Amino acid sequence: MTTAHVDPLVARMRPFGTTIFAEMSALAVRTGAVNLGQGFPDTDGPPEMLAAAAEALRTGQNQYPPGPGIPALRAAVAAHQRRFWGLEYDPDGEIVVTAGATEAIAAAILGLCEPRDEVVCFEPYYDSYAASIALAGAVRRPVTLRPGPDGRYAFDPDALRAAFGPRTRLVLLNSPHNPTGKVFTADELALVAELCREHDAYAVTDEVYEHLVFTDAASGHVPLATLAGMRERTLRISSAGKTFSCTGWKVGWVSGPAALVSAVLRVKQFLTFVNAAPLQPAVAVALGLGDDYFTAFRDGMRARRDQLVAGLTDAGFEVLTPEGTYFVTADVAPLGGRDGVEFCRSLPERCGVVAVPTQVFYDDPEAGRRLIRFAFCKRPEVLTEAVARLRRLGTAR
Ligand code: PMP
Ligand code: GLN
Repeated sequence: MTTAHVDPLVARMRPFGTTIFAEMSALAVRTGAVNLGQGFPDTDGPPEMLAAAAEALRTGQNQYPPGPGIPALRAAVAAHQRRFWGLEYDPDGEIVVTAGATEAIAAAILGLCEPRDEVVCFEPYYDSYAASIALAGAVRRPVTLRPGPDGRYAFDPDALRAAFGPRTRLVLLNSPHNPTGKVFTADELALVAELCREHDAYAVTDEVYEHLVFTDAASGHVPLATLAGMRERTLRISSAGKTFSCTGWKVGWVSGPAALVSAVLRVKQFLTFVNAAPLQPAVAVALGLGDDYFTAFRDGMRARRDQLVAGLTDAGFEVLTPEGTYFVTADVAPLGGRDGVEFCRSLPERCGVVAVPTQVFYDDPEAGRRLIRFAFCKRPEVLTEAVARLRRLGTAR
C-alpha cells in the first residue's frame, strides 16, 4: 500500500475534526441563517484603535516586530493589569505578545508539559485546550461543570480534588468561562489555588472575557494570580479580540513570572515567531482607553444578554443566565430536543438561526447532551430577529 491510501495525520490529532465553529459558521453562510454560533461581534471596536492601526500600516510598521512584542504594547498590557486588577508585571521579561490567546495557550502547554503530564481543566472547555494538550502528549483531567437547581454551573469540589495527583503539571482555568458564561466564585478560586499550592502545580488562566463580568459583586473579575501564593505559579492569558471587538486581529498576551513567560516565548518563537506588527500599537492605544470605554462595553453587552435571555425564555428554552462572557447556554428539552447536535444541525432549516451544541466541548458528552450555546455579541436588531425566528419553534410543534 502506498502512503497515498493512509491518513497522513498524526494519531494524536485524529480525534479532532473540523472545529464546531467552522462547521456552524459555514452552515449559517450556506443557509442564510442568523449566526449566533461562533462568537464574533458584528460591529467594530473603538475608532481610536482602528485609526491607530491604519496609521501604523501607512507609516511603515510592517516588518517583524521584536519577539516578545513591541515595547509600547508590553507597557500598555502591564499598565492595564495594574489599573484593573492591581497586578504588577515587568514589561521586560514578564509579558509576551502572542498570536491571540490561542497561541498563548498552546505555547504555555507545549512549553510546560512533558508527555504524560496531566492538565486539570473544567469541561465543557474551549476546543483548543484539548488539541493543545494532545499536541503536547499530555493528558487532560476534566472536571465537569453541571447546571444546578439555582441555574448556575458548578463543580463538585471532591471531583476537583480527585483530579489533582502526582502527575498534575498545571490547571487550565477559564473564568469568565466559555461556553457556560460561568464566573468562578471566590470560594471556587480559593480551592483551585489551594490545590495548586498543595500539588505544586502551575496555573494557566484564560481571561479573555475579563471585561465581561455582569455580576453585581463590586470586585467584578478576580484573576487567580491575585490569590495568595498564585502569582509566582500562574501564567495569565488575555487578548484584544473580545475586549476590543477585533477577533480577527489575533493579538494576545501572556503575563507571569519571568521563568514561566520565558518557557512560553521559547515555544512561541518557533510557532509564529511574531505577529500583527501594525496591530500591536493599535491594541496598545485601546488598552489605554478611559474607564468609560470598558464600562460601556460591559454594560452594552449586559443589555444584550438580558435581551437574549428574555427572548430565549419566551421562545420556550430553559435558559441558564450567564454571569459573564458573551454566551448564553440553554437546554433544548422544553422544545422537544433530545440532542444538542441534532437540534443545532436542524435549526437553520427549521427557523433560520445557528447555535452551537456544547456537548462537543465535553469528554463526557452526556453531561451536555441537551445544551446549546448562543452568542449575544450582536446588534440588538439582529438579536430581535433571531428571537422572532426562534419563537416559531414553539408554534411549529
Ligand atoms: N479562549 C477562550 C475561552 C475563547 O473564547 C477564545 C475565543 N475565541 C479564545 C481563547 C481565543 O482567543 P484569540 O482569538 O485571542 O486567540
Ligand atoms: N471564541 C469564539 C467562540 O467560542 C470563536 C472561536 C473560534 O472560532 N475558534 O465562539
